[in-house]
Amino acid sequence: MVNRGLFYLGAHEPQWLHRTDVPLFISHKRLIRYMKDLPIAKTRWALDSGAFSELAKYGEWLTTEAEYVHAVLTYQDEMGELDCVHLEDEPIVGVGSVCRRQATGEATAIFASLRPLRLHGFGVKLSGLTRFGHFLTSCDSLAWSYEAWKQDARLPGHQTHKHCGNCLDYALHWREGVIRRMEESDGHRTSRSP
Ligand SMILES: [Zn+2]
Repeated sequence: MVNRGLFYLGAHEPQWLHRTDVPLFISHKRLIRYMKDLPIAKTRWALDSGAFSELAKYGEWLTTEAEYVHAVLTYQDEMGELDCVHLEDEPIVGVGSVCRRQATGEATAIFASLRPLRLHGFGVKLSGLTRFGHFLTSCDSLAWSYEAWKQDARLPGHQTHKHCGNCLDYALHWREGVIRRMEESDGHRTSRSP
């Protein structure tokens, strides 16, 4: 289950790896811009290849396998704490493209049918987590950023920006709420079990 497993907070800013100790999920597309000034990670993190968005946007792969492998090795070498490098030891199946189905029983059925594989849910939302989080070994979510942007949400005292869609404090606050909701739904599920 995710709350006892691993919830990676999606982040735009690689520098957050240096500023927080919660697990982060960062896109290769973002990180490659910082190749000459990579931060040293003080928290565990996982790398999103960005392949899905590349394919969706351009209709083809623009990053070669060799380029990607080279980048991953550089990240691991210079930043450290990279989780995905270790995935070969304990295979984890990544399940994505469920974004639009998360509030339905369909996503839950998909994850349930894939059990007992060790699953990582890509880009999950809060509505999805409470439904099928217990089937996942790990997952990631950048939903906080979209939510803050869409609702012009700001934490008290954050007048310097229009919304907190790129704000670590907001992201951590959102993450706390997610973990709490996960624990609550887990508690309900356990108490219903015979
Ligand atoms: Zn803010």
